[in-house]
Amino acid sequence: MADCIFCKIAQKEITSALLYEDNGVVAFKDLEPQAPVHVLIIPKKHIASLLVACPEDRALIAHITCEVIPKLARELGVAEKGFRVVVNTGEEGGQSVKHLHFHLLGGRSMQWPPG
Ligand code: AMP
Repeated sequence: MADCIFCKIAQKEITSALLYEDNGVVAFKDLEPQAPVHVLIIPKKHIASLLVACPEDRALIAHITCEVIPKLARELGVAEKGFRVVVNTGEEGGQSVKHLHFHLLGGRSMQWPPG
């Protein structure tokens, strides 16, 4: 999508040090980290949010959650102690970038309820 910052990162129109890449997914550090480990994992395909993900996106989302995130959590050293995965969705959900993304946060104790 033309004016989507995450599409530009996925298509390498904007340089970002990628921590992971495959045919359908990229991961990179959050610009404003909220924890010692704060990585964003995104589909290369523009999906505006979890709300509009369609059945054909299921395999991609399962790949991100069941394979890419656990792999990154292990590589970044947060798998053993624990980590948090967040998908902010919509205005009250706190979504600021309208391209589906999974926050992987770790390296500190997380609080509940979240802010
Ligand atoms: P959300 O508020 O859930 O939509 O999260 C969007 C996240 O994207 C925020 O944590 C931002 O800090 C992060 N962000 C925005 N632009 C960039 C960028 N160019 N590179 C890395 N992270 C970014």
